[in-house]
Amino acid sequence: MKKALVCGAGGFIGSHLVTRLKEEGFWVRGVDLKYPDFSETKADDFVIGDLRDQGLVDRVIDQKFNEIYQLAADMGGAGYIFTGENDADIMHNSAMINLNVLEACRKRNNKNIFYSSSACMYPEHNQLDPNNPNCAEDSAYPANPDSEYGWEKLFSERLYLAYNRNHGMNCKVARYHNIFGPEGTWQGGKEKAPAAICRKVIQAQDGGSIEIWGDGCQTRSFLYIDECVEGSIRLMRSSFEGPVNIGSDEMVTINNLVDLAKACSKKNVEIIHIDGPQGVRGRNSDNQLIHEKLGWRPSQSLRTGIEKTYFWISDQIKIKTT
Ligand code: NAD
Repeated sequence: MKKALVCGAGGFIGSHLVTRLKEEGFWVRGVDLKYPDFSETKADDFVIGDLRDQGLVDRVIDQKFNEIYQLAADMGGAGYIFTGENDADIMHNSAMINLNVLEACRKRNNKNIFYSSSACMYPEHNQLDPNNPNCAEDSAYPANPDSEYGWEKLFSERLYLAYNRNHGMNCKVARYHNIFGPEGTWQGGKEKAPAAICRKVIQAQDGGSIEIWGDGCQTRSFLYIDECVEGSIRLMRSSFEGPVNIGSDEMVTINNLVDLAKACSKKNVEIIHIDGPQGVRGRNSDNQLIHEKLGWRPSQSLRTGIEKTYFWISDQIKIKTT
């Protein structure tokens, strides 16, 4: 039986990945500080532990795994990573996890590691025009991410690729672009734009209003969770090490995103623009490289993904209030 380890298995993407690996017949060990928030883990073995602790990491990477997915990171939405208040934790905690995991893998001769980097590592100066952002993989240097979260991702990408070069490892690096879907954080400050907007629209009265950070003309693309898992597994099993974007290239403004949530609600809701952390002005996934190397790119429309997410959050709110 094939074995997989998922670090960050209590998180949004990690818990979906565990489910997919189980469906494929893997024996799966998950590790996280916590269990998944919204459903029971499908992992055969789930270790609650801190991956900043090298001793713990050595204990969970105590054998040969066919596939290791390293998704654990100290992260959140714009309200967490762009305010500056959490920068030291974000850099220290995530870098420590990656240093520990790689070293334990090297000692145990575990070579196949997938690492989730982020589009936040792309330079700010290529993302000033909301209509023409450049996130082609080779535009990463000269580096100039707009957040410390992005700088840590850049450092760790390089660390994984350095282990490939110097220790004969086979690490794969993906740059995720705004992943969303059911069972993602939808309240509490770490939620991302699609979940936050769905929640605000659900909670607004018909004829009421919701607050949006900035003028809403900033652009982004959003990738539905199932496609993220599919792309990650395909990259892991390919001969291409990356870095490569895993994202949607259906770029929308934040105001467009509100319109999609409003369409699900059938309510009339006004947008009030307020000051708040926004990140770069424009960002979109460039999918040329993933298509060239893996013969695959995501295809599901944003509308379909938002509908599934909207009704899932709506159910969560009902559960909470009954
Ligand atoms: P998430 O926050 O839901 O999952 C991360 C998990 O890591 C959490 O469950 C957290 O408890 C765990 N973790 C944090 N510190 C830990 C520690 N010291 N020891 C053990 N576990 C620890 O985030 P996610 O959305 O599932 O993202 C997974 C990965 O993908 C992260 O590396 C993230 O940076 C990257 N990423 C996500 C997105 C996105 O839109 N969701 C975009 C770009 C990159």
